[in-house]
Formats: sequence, C-alpha cells, structure tokens
Amino acid sequence: MFGKILIANRGEIALRIIRACKEMNIATVSVYSQIDKESLHVKLADEAICIGTALPKDSYLNIENIISAAVGVGADAIHPGFGFLAENAKFARICEECHIAFIGPDAKMIENMGDKARARELMIKAKVPVVPGSKGAISTIDEAKVIAKKIGYPVILKASAGGGGRGMRIVDKEDELEQLFLTASHEAQLAFGDGSMYMEKYIRNPRHIEFQILGDSFGNIIHLGERDCSMQRRHQKVIEESPSPHISDDVRAAMGEAAVRAAQSVNYKNAGTVEFILDADNSFYFIEMNTRIQVEHPVTEMVTGIDLIKEQIRIAYGEKLCYTQDDINLVGAAIECRINAENPSLNFRPCAGTITALHFPGGRGVRVESNMYSGYTIPPTYDSMIAKIITFGKDRAEALSIMKRALSETVIEGIDNNIEFQLDLLHTKAFEEGCFNTSYIEQNLDEILEV
Ligand code: ADP
Repeated sequence: MFGKILIANRGEIALRIIRACKEMNIATVSVYSQIDKESLHVKLADEAICIGTALPKDSYLNIENIISAAVGVGADAIHPGFGFLAENAKFARICEECHIAFIGPDAKMIENMGDKARARELMIKAKVPVVPGSKGAISTIDEAKVIAKKIGYPVILKASAGGGGRGMRIVDKEDELEQLFLTASHEAQLAFGDGSMYMEKYIRNPRHIEFQILGDSFGNIIHLGERDCSMQRRHQKVIEESPSPHISDDVRAAMGEAAVRAAQSVNYKNAGTVEFILDADNSFYFIEMNTRIQVEHPVTEMVTGIDLIKEQIRIAYGEKLCYTQDDINLVGAAIECRINAENPSLNFRPCAGTITALHFPGGRGVRVESNMYSGYTIPPTYDSMIAKIITFGKDRAEALSIMKRALSETVIEGIDNNIEFQLDLLHTKAFEEGCFNTSYIEQNLDEILEV
C-alpha cells in the first residue's frame, strides 16, 4: 500500500481523507495556504507544508508548489479531494510524469468528462439518454438559434467547462438568446478560461438523481445506488439523500444500468458520479459525469457501508474491487444537510469571522464532517460550506427525525449560518413527503423563510 499520501485540499474534505489514511496506516501530508495555518487539516496530518498565500491560484491551485511539496516529502500519492485541482487534467498528467499516483481517474478521462459538451457526445455514442440539445459545442449564435428552434424553448445554455452552476443561462425565447449567450460565454471565459457553450432543452421542475460509480484497473465497474440531490438553490445542492424518496425500483434499476453503461463506455477508473435529471414522466437524461469524490459521498457510505475514500485509495494503488454489483445492498436511509456560513435572510450572503462557541450534535445515527472548532476564524477566501451533518435511520422517516433533532442541538456562534433555514426546509410538507424538485426553494423561498 502507499506509504505516504499528500492531500491537495483544505477544509472538511482534507480531514475526511486524513482520517481514512490514518485508519489504513498511511502517513499523511497536508498542504496549506498562509491564511490556513490554524486549520485543523494542518494540525491533524503527520506533516504540513505551506504552499503559498491565501488566493487559490497562489496555493491550492499552484501545481508547481504542490508537486514540489510532494516530491520533497517523498509522498507516493496525491489525493485531490473535490474542487481546486480535482478535475484538472494537467495536474493529473504531471503527477503521472513525476511517478506520484493521482487518486482519481487518469488525465485523459478527466479531459473527456470535464468538457461537458464532449461528454455529451460520448454518451450519445454509448446510447445513454441525454437531454435533447446540441450535439457538441455551439460555434455561432445563428447555430444556437437553429438548435433552439428545433428543440423548442425554453432552453438552457451551459458552459462546456462548467461547474458550480457558472456559465449557465435559461432562455425562454429567441429575442433573449443572443444576449444571454454572450453573457454566459463571457462568464465561462472568466471562470474557466474557456467560453465555449452547448445547449440543452430546459426540463421544467426536474429531480436531480445521480449514481455513485466505482471502477478498478481491471475493467470492473459497479454502482453504489443513487443520491437524490433535488433540494437545490440556484442549481447548487442544499440537501442530499439516499435512497431517493421519489423513484420506483424499476426506474432505479434502469438508471443504475445506464450509469454503469456510461462509465463502461469510457472505461472509467476510480470513484465517479453519473448525474441525471428526471422529468415528470420519469424519463431520465444524463447531464454530466464528475470524475472525483463528491461533497455528498457520505450518504452513499451510510446506506452501503462502504468507505469511498478508502476504495479510491485502493483502486489508485492498483487493487481489484472486492465487491460485485450483487454485493451492493442499500440498507436504511441517509440524509445530508450542508451547513454554510451565510445569511439566508440577506440573500444567503456569505459570512467570514470567528466562531465563538461551537457544539456539534451527536447520538445515534449522526455523523458530522467539519473542520470547525471554537475559536477558529473562517477566512473570506474560500467556499462557505463549514460542515456537513449526515443522519442515518432504518428508513427515511427515522433519518429525518434524527436530522431535525441533530440540527436543533447544533450551536454555532459568532458567524451567520443556515441551520435555521435547513430546519425550516426539513419541516416543509414538500420535504416531509419527498415531493419537491430542483426549483422548490426558489419557488417557495418567502414561505420557507417565514416558517
Ligand atoms: P454544474 O456542473 O455547473 O453544477 P450541471 O450540469 O451539473 O451543472 O447542472 C446543475 C443543475 O442545473 C442540475 O442539478 C439541475 O438542477 C440544473 N440543470 C442542468 N441542466 C438542466 C436542464 N437541461 N434542464 C433543467 N435543469 C437543468
């Protein structure tokens, strides 16, 4: 097994990886930016190396500094976590060239799937259903108009290099197309250095359902069931759960089979996620494949009993999967609430500052993933997610009652946070009944905030 893994990330995911390594008796190296020197990932790793100043481009995105650190400490593998360099093909390639194992798929795979227009093309070839739309990237506005007319408005323009909802615009009619195309493409150019766009039919009020995939170097590919991530705000996930309260066993089986086919068609290796949207008629469409571990991976771990980070490490080391599809059974139900340092009443404005008091929940069925501690100062530079609270029960009703109890025990003082908002969401009739779609929060925000 690897002797030493460098974790090229920060926050709760860095801790999650350190913990898995410790349980596997693998030495850990954290990297950190100057502003993160008091972070828990620095304190809990066996070694820690400063790789630059606060801005991501100077530290967590600085390939040269990270590789130098890895070579300097003699790490034989790098885990990129999610965000930052996790889906950067150049980084994966440089790791390979330096004989450091990149814990994820190879560079070519990241390149193919990271270009979402190209991923669409590959899925069409593999006969995985995709949302009706352009075949690949769109070159001109005239071409966009022709395709939109053919598939019918509303359409959604998406950035080929997209992620985090950036470079995405819904277009209701032709008059708006040119302007929205230009602004979305400009936004994508700024965010990703690539302004190319593609188009899909805008599916009204869909569910977002994704499948966790594991593939090894021997061509074995399995799925670990689905996660329902339909509770979203601005196309970003807020609550995730497994299994989905919405789909039937038949739909689940068909989607799982399509997800495995999608992964097989590209010979996928390591952990990945195939994301679909599901319309009101239960037709499902591929939207993208994420070639990394995801924020919401714990809900899958809770219902399958499989440690996804350890599996990623074993696969990267060249081990065979020790499960077949038949070994995978989903037991019980798990829910994850993302806890953010933000103020829901002020349009979810992010909040930096010092945590003056902190109490996380415990008890049966509760799991907390967080790098917070009392006295910690949240820097303004990074993502606002500060914790994930995950609950597990024999069924959804139990997982939900544990979540309500867990969130109401939680105390985070000194900074704004969305715990009350999450509690309000959990108490809505829609969530209780599992009847909501990706537009639910936007369409009911005033009501939710008033509860
Ligand atoms: P990103 O990579 O930026 O997160 P995705 O392609 O994963 O973008 O889509 C994010 C979310 O946007 C989806 O979960 C869904 O809510 C919405 N979405 C994406 N494509 C469509 C579509 N064709 N129709 C309706 N909603 C969509």
